[in-house]
Amino acid sequence: MPRLVGIFGGTFDPVHIGHTRTIAYLLDIIPFEKILIIPNALPVHKENSQESFQHRFKMVSMAFQCIDKTFVDDREKLRNGPSYAIDTVKEVLEEETDAKVIFIVGSDSFSEIDSWHKWEGLLSLVDFIVMKRPNHPLTRSKKAFDLINKTINIKDLVKKRKIKNIVELKVTPVTVSSSLVRQHVLEGRGVEHLVSKKVGEYLKKHNLYDSKNLP
Ligand code: ATP
Repeated sequence: MPRLVGIFGGTFDPVHIGHTRTIAYLLDIIPFEKILIIPNALPVHKENSQESFQHRFKMVSMAFQCIDKTFVDDREKLRNGPSYAIDTVKEVLEEETDAKVIFIVGSDSFSEIDSWHKWEGLLSLVDFIVMKRPNHPLTRSKKAFDLINKTINIKDLVKKRKIKNIVELKVTPVTVSSSLVRQHVLEGRGVEHLVSKKVGEYLKKHNLYDSKNLP
């Protein structure tokens, strides 16, 4: 079996237990050597990212700190220009020449795959695991749904070296989103059940997503 390297990108505005629990679950069932957690510097799909890269990066580092085999990676901040997934993937492929690189994404993001920069090129470079996300069925986008390979399972995907496949995977459902966290903070409600303890403390300490910080 080839070495397996995962890429999990996101705005992480902020990171929450939906991100960490699903990645921990993937690590339990798939023998990844590592998963790179890559916060976007200039998210292409979310123009109004609310918090700075520095804050988001720090919170992601705290959240994934105790999950073995995850590495929080700041390459998108170091690169000039917008955060295109294809550029990140090309860089990782150059570094991990003998590995099978798998892009990990939630079903909501994958539904919009045909709006990503050079998306067809991206699909030809790496395999994809699309995590089923509660309330975001892939069937909402026919194009995305049709791209899923329904004939192979995850075991086949990790073994096959040459062909690039896209597989949908049922993960332990976690009905949490960054929008929900932001909404809770804004309304002065607790977020203990949505983010890790350290991230919760960090949000409070820096008044992130607080109404005081809104323009
Ligand atoms: P927002 O609510 O602002 O849209 P988000 O919760 O989707 O944010 P992102 O940083 O955009 O968070 O997500 C990064 C990646 O994690 C995306 O591929 C997304 O689909 C996936 N993801 C986020 N939350 C979950 C979840 N609860 N279960 C599975 N995948 C998730």
